[in-house]
Amino acid sequence: MGSLKRKIEILGDASKFDVCASMASPRTVSGNWRIGNPDRAGICHAFAPDGRCISLFKVLMTNHCIYDCKYCVNNCSNAKTKVMFEPVELARAFMGLYIRNYVEGLFLSSGVWKSATDTSEKIIDALTLIRDTYHFQGYMHIKILPGTDKEYIRQIMEVADRVSLNVELPSPSRLSEVSSVKNYETDILACQKHIHHYIKEGLVPAGQTTQFIVGTTAESDHEIIERLHWEYSKLELKRAYFSGFTPIKGTPLEHRKTSERYIRKRENYLYRIDWLYRRYNYEIDRIFSIMDEKGMVPLGTDPKVSLALKDDTFPLDVNEASYKELLQVPGIGEISSRRIINLRKMNKKISNYRDLQRVGVVVKRAKSFITVNGRRQTRIKEFLN
Ligand code: SF4
Repeated sequence: MGSLKRKIEILGDASKFDVCASMASPRTVSGNWRIGNPDRAGICHAFAPDGRCISLFKVLMTNHCIYDCKYCVNNCSNAKTKVMFEPVELARAFMGLYIRNYVEGLFLSSGVWKSATDTSEKIIDALTLIRDTYHFQGYMHIKILPGTDKEYIRQIMEVADRVSLNVELPSPSRLSEVSSVKNYETDILACQKHIHHYIKEGLVPAGQTTQFIVGTTAESDHEIIERLHWEYSKLELKRAYFSGFTPIKGTPLEHRKTSERYIRKRENYLYRIDWLYRRYNYEIDRIFSIMDEKGMVPLGTDPKVSLALKDDTFPLDVNEASYKELLQVPGIGEISSRRIINLRKMNKKISNYRDLQRVGVVVKRAKSFITVNGRRQTRIKEFLN
């Protein structure tokens, strides 16, 4: 199985394909192996349920998997070195990093070694050591393996702060294009339903999240958003992450031609749509209305602008629109909407674009969709008033 140091190197590196909170907002950090660089494996940042940004030891239990997902570096046909932590090795490695103040929590994912049951048992043993023997009280985000038994899910959820299970693809037929053995209903959706059941019973109040790999098949944005809608409404999903497909050496899809620029932009637009749906309560049919005949969100225009252009209620008067209406204006977000409403409560009005700038509105984006006291201000001079 190799030395512990070697295992940490291999299993830390292999974990980089799982997305966690901070990686959804790419940041540039110069220099190799600098903490905070989302491209690097081993340590990442995430937001704990109380909002604090914390550094996590990000690692796999094993990089071997009995499944054959064509896009995944851990799939069963990849000939790379396969290793697995013994529970005590993982517990000690994590606690060693924690005691030295390198990390504050754990983000643990895994391939499936012999079976989901076998691997989950090892994960539970490691988590139990960390919690009960080493008395670690901090944050642990655990990925539930596809096909995990309901009882093992419960045991993991008893010690985890957050759990997630990657759906990866939006439907059974899309999954069957990249895996001949993974079953969408029994390996993925059934496990997500078990997680949901235990959340309802009070375990892991922070809820569950999931991840989509975007562009692995020819799936449309419509298919992804439809699945997302199902996940939010039926499973009360906390949030979703989108990871653009990247061909990985040693996988069956390593020679697939992709445009890095296109896939990153698509990923970014899916995050924006997710935000509009999840935070601003845009209705799903309204979101579908901006998609083209292939079910894709046009990448030239920001989705919020596309939605506003289709809506004949604009322009809105900033001194009369409700909080919910203000949120629909491009360039106005939650904070600026709240500030505008608060001003109104103090009997103060927005008089010009400068007032809007003061409350955080991006006037350049908003001005086509608003009026100020019934007037549309379009001249530069008025903009600066
Ligand atoms: S189940 Fe997960 S780890 Fe295993 S091959 Fe598929 S994506 Fe990779």
